[in-house]
Amino acid sequence: STPSFRWRRVLLKVSGEALAGDQKQNIDPKVTMAIAREVASVTRLGIEVAIVVGGGNIFRGSSWAGSSGLDRSSADYIGMLATVMNAIYLQATMESLGIPTRVQTAFRMSEVAEPYIRRRAVRHLEKGRVVIFAAGTGNPFFTTDTAAALRCAEINAEVVLKATNVDGVYNEDPRDNPNACLLENLTYHEVISKELSVMDLTAITLCQENNIPVVVFNLNKAGNIAKAIKGEKVGTLIEG
Ligand code: UDP
Repeated sequence: STPSFRWRRVLLKVSGEALAGDQKQNIDPKVTMAIAREVASVTRLGIEVAIVVGGGNIFRGSSWAGSSGLDRSSADYIGMLATVMNAIYLQATMESLGIPTRVQTAFRMSEVAEPYIRRRAVRHLEKGRVVIFAAGTGNPFFTTDTAAALRCAEINAEVVLKATNVDGVYNEDPRDNPNACLLENLTYHEVISKELSVMDLTAITLCQENNIPVVVFNLNKAGNIAKAIKGEKVGTLIEG
C-alpha cells in the first residue's frame, strides 16, 4: 500500500532569487539540481508537483519601470520572459534526472513550450509529469506569487509551498534584528494586518479567498523541499 501524505497535489513556488543561490550568475546549477533531485524523490512517491518559477534573478519589472522612460507594462513583459528562461533551465535539469517535465507558458511561445491549458496541465500531473508554469499570469502588474496562487486554485492543488532564502516568516526582519523570531503558524488575517512580508496582497488574498494554505520555507537546507512537499513540518504555515 502507498503511504499517505498530507498533500496529493502541490504547487511549489520557486523565486528567481532562490535560483540564483549565492552565485553572481543568474542561475546556480547546484540550486536547480537540488530542486530537481528533491522533486524527483517525491514524484516517485506519487505526489503530484506543479511549479511556478519567478524571474527576479534576471529581471524585475517594478524596479526597471520608470527608469529611462520604460513603461511598467513593457518592463513586466520582459520580467515574464525572464521566468520562461528559468523554466526552461529547470525543465532541462529535471529531465537530465529522468523526470518527465512540461513547461506551460501563460502566453503563447509554441516553439519553446506548451501554452497553458488547464485540463492538459492536470492530465500531465495525473500521469506523473511535473508541470512548470512560466510567464506568470501573462499579465503585467502581477507577480509570480499571484500566479502561484492562481494556478494552485485552478488545478485544485492543495497548498502553495513558497521556497525562499529564509527559514520562514519572522515577527521582524531578521537582518535588522538578530532576536527576531520565526513564526510557525499564522492566519491570513495576521499576515495582512501586520503587513508581514510573505507575498504581495493580491497573492495572499487570493489564497485566503480560496482557502489555500501557504507554507514559507528555506530551500537552501537539504531535504526541505521534499519535507515541504510531503507535508512535514517546515518553516511557517499560513492558513485560515
Ligand atoms: N510578472 C508580471 N506578471 C506576472 C508575473 C510576473 O508582469 O503575472 C513580471 C514582473 O515584472 C515581475 C517579473 O515578471 O517583476 C518576475 O517575476 P517576480 O518578480 O514575481 O519573480 P520572483 O520575485 O519570484 O523572482
